[in-house]
Amino acid sequence: MIGLLGAGLALIYSVIFAVGIYVAVKVYVGRRQRKITKEIPEGICIHCGAKIEDAKCPNCDGIK
Ligand SMILES: [Zn+2]
Repeated sequence: MIGLLGAGLALIYSVIFAVGIYVAVKVYVGRRQRKITKEIPEGICIHCGAKIEDAKCPNCDGIK
């Protein structure tokens, strides 16, 4: 009975651990994405750093 309870607790802990990691990764990715978007100033190309004109980079978008 105690062994069964212990196994159940171990299962519960492993589920909590898995959920915790999932949430931590989600939070980490969300923060990183927010940080990236915050670090890149609006109007600057993320590829070459040129000034964006009409939502397009004159260097990168013009090559197409
Ligand atoms: Zn560019």
